[in-house]
Amino acid sequence: MLEEKLKQLGDNSAIETKTPISGGDINQAYYVKTGKQEYFIKANQSAASDFFQIEVNGLEKIRSTQTIAVPEVYYFDNSAGNEEMMLIMEWIEGEETAAAEQHLGKQLASMHLVGGSTAYGLDQSTYVGKLTQSNEWYTNWVDYYREHRLQPQLDLAVQYNRMNQNRRLKLEALIRDLDLYLPSQPKVSLLHGDLWGGNWIIGGAGQPYLIDPSILYGDHLFELAFTELFGGFSNTFYSQYQEAMPLADYYQDVKPIYQLFHLLVHLNMFGEVYGGSVDRILKRYI
Ligand code: ADP
Repeated sequence: MLEEKLKQLGDNSAIETKTPISGGDINQAYYVKTGKQEYFIKANQSAASDFFQIEVNGLEKIRSTQTIAVPEVYYFDNSAGNEEMMLIMEWIEGEETAAAEQHLGKQLASMHLVGGSTAYGLDQSTYVGKLTQSNEWYTNWVDYYREHRLQPQLDLAVQYNRMNQNRRLKLEALIRDLDLYLPSQPKVSLLHGDLWGGNWIIGGAGQPYLIDPSILYGDHLFELAFTELFGGFSNTFYSQYQEAMPLADYYQDVKPIYQLFHLLVHLNMFGEVYGGSVDRILKRYI
């Protein structure tokens, strides 16, 4: 199966190594080495038919900004059958250097500065983890964030029984009053959309690469807020970023609301262990 795919890609040499890689929580990942080349391969038996297509679309959109590297995609399946779906990419490996964080800060800011859209959101659904992230175009960022980010996660949490009465009332109130807290017309930036510490890797010459995106067009502070939620980014990263793209003075006020989306996603995917963090943020506003 894999041999066949690699042959179609023009690699007729034998597979010498196939090693599982840990780190992702959605797919099985492998390092594969043939006589000709190294590959990074993701495989999934249960994903939706467009799962890898959406990932590749995101990578291509980031690549098109010419600001920050993403791995090259050699092959992907986009019709789920009974068979395993596969994504075959360039293998990225390099030394961790201080310069990598510097580049990441500068290059991410460059990506955010490019713009590339006059509206907020996206023209297609994506995935955030395993969850479907619906999207549409909006002229008002607050409306997008309310209707496509917080409200769907609230609905899911109710469905999954992860909202007690108090949490639900507060979140409903925050969603209703969102205009009081978020900017309606921030600069439009292309965002990676799922940028935690595990979704950037270092390649040759200390070059940072973004992986596993869940793209959208929106407020760059939404991206920065998520980088801070689980760590994995150094002071150097933040100082380089801010040199290229200063943060609005209201950043600290909006940060928890932007982190709230990701905490709700985690609450829905992993359970009540994230409930306390959700409640602490709600308490701050409501
Ligand atoms: P998942 O979709 O399951 O979350 P990821 O795309 O995050 O999987 O990949 C899992 C791990 O594999 C990452 O944490 C990273 O360390 C590594 N990885 C991802 N892409 C590459 C690549 N192109 N080259 C080398 N390692 C990679």
